[in-house]
Amino acid sequence: MAAGLFDVTSEQREIGNLAREIAQREIAPHIAAWDKAHYFPRELYTKLNAAGLMGIVVPERYGGAGADYVSYALAIEELARVDAGTAVTLSVHAMITSAIERLGTGEQKERYLPRLATGDVIAGFGLTEPGAGSDAAALTSTARRDGDAYVLSGRKQWCTNGSYAGVTMGMFRTGASGSKGVSAFLVERDTPGYIVEKVTEKLGIHTSNTCDIVFEGVRVPQDAMLGEEGTGFSMALSALTAGRIGIAAQATGILAACLDASIAFARDREAFGKPIAAFEAISFKIAQMATDLDAARLLVYRAASLCDRGLPFAIEASKAKLFASTAARKHAAEAVQIHGGYGYTTEFPVERYYRDAKITEIYEGTSEIQQLIIGRSLLGRFD
Ligand SMILES: Cc1cc2nc3c(=O)[nH]c(=O)nc-3n(C[C@H](O)[C@H](O)[C@H](O)COP(=O)(O)OP(=O)(O)OC[C@H]3O[C@@H](n4cnc5c(N)ncnc54)[C@H](O)[C@@H]3O)c2cc1C
Repeated sequence: MAAGLFDVTSEQREIGNLAREIAQREIAPHIAAWDKAHYFPRELYTKLNAAGLMGIVVPERYGGAGADYVSYALAIEELARVDAGTAVTLSVHAMITSAIERLGTGEQKERYLPRLATGDVIAGFGLTEPGAGSDAAALTSTARRDGDAYVLSGRKQWCTNGSYAGVTMGMFRTGASGSKGVSAFLVERDTPGYIVEKVTEKLGIHTSNTCDIVFEGVRVPQDAMLGEEGTGFSMALSALTAGRIGIAAQATGILAACLDASIAFARDREAFGKPIAAFEAISFKIAQMATDLDAARLLVYRAASLCDRGLPFAIEASKAKLFASTAARKHAAEAVQIHGGYGYTTEFPVERYYRDAKITEIYEGTSEIQQLIIGRSLLGRFD
């Protein structure tokens, strides 16, 4: 994190520094190999837990670190600076811990938060379906009432952490079409009929697990429902609103990594008898990268700080995600360009940043959806 950029407390800074140290020690030496092998480092999350990162936003009474969202954003940024895949694994996990903490019953909190806070159990999120992405309210997976239970059927697509998630917050239709007919459930992986299928191969974030989950008559007790029947869609949106701070921080971390790598390479690489840093064309790219990095950080910290103070932050989270993800994608391409042919090879990490950056413009609401949310806040709705 850049000194003086934002009024970060020493406690918040410490958490960011801790994440940086762990990322440098536990991830950096392995990341090239993990990326190549599409390896999900399950054991890493035990180490992140030792530093309190798995339960970063979980209150201390449930065994978490009880940190705020500014600290969380700093930690995600530092992890993403080394590996964007690890950052999204933690971000989705934290999004669910936070949703359970805010929306769950006392019994649900006692049941899940201590195990999620230690990372013994990893959490997942299942909203998207083959026919319902941005238009998530079009989901067709169903939860049918059967006595004192619900029976879940359908397919959830591209669930981050899916293969490893001991508990998933899944949205299912309990009523009529549209957003009002959706309810949220906490579904445990070991329930009969819960099938992890089709681990998805991706352009980037190779250390992150993405898969489909098929629900074939999964029977869950009534108290697996999160909140009231028919409120599942708004719960999913509320989880995603906070989640966007994490994805914006992830994009910011990728951007920071692009800047670090570009500065080092520009100073080292010579052409026409001088370091390429001496060429204005190169230094201007790096200047713009640094400026956009500061802007991304400020937008992320503002959204996180509003969230911490209990103030509305949805529009600010959308702006942070929109800006940081666009900047990460754009400057990752510039980082490759600055590296020339080397940038296109796996000898340098910028080709990975380039592949990893793109997804930040897509998941947890595409850039177009963020623009739609921001536009509506300014202009109102016309539907
Ligand atoms: C690696 C990965 C991990 C993911 N993890 C999860 C997860 O853990 N849980 C989960 O539930 N989902 C997850 N997703 C799904 C992700 O959130 C969706 O892919 C995303 O919301 C977009 O939906 P879609 O892919 O169906 O695109 P579509 O909704 O089909 O959109 C296609 C294009 O149309 C545009 N578009 C759509 N509607 C509008 C509109 N109204 N105005 C303007 N443009 C519009 C979109 O912006 C996009 O450019 C993941 C996806 C990936 C690739």
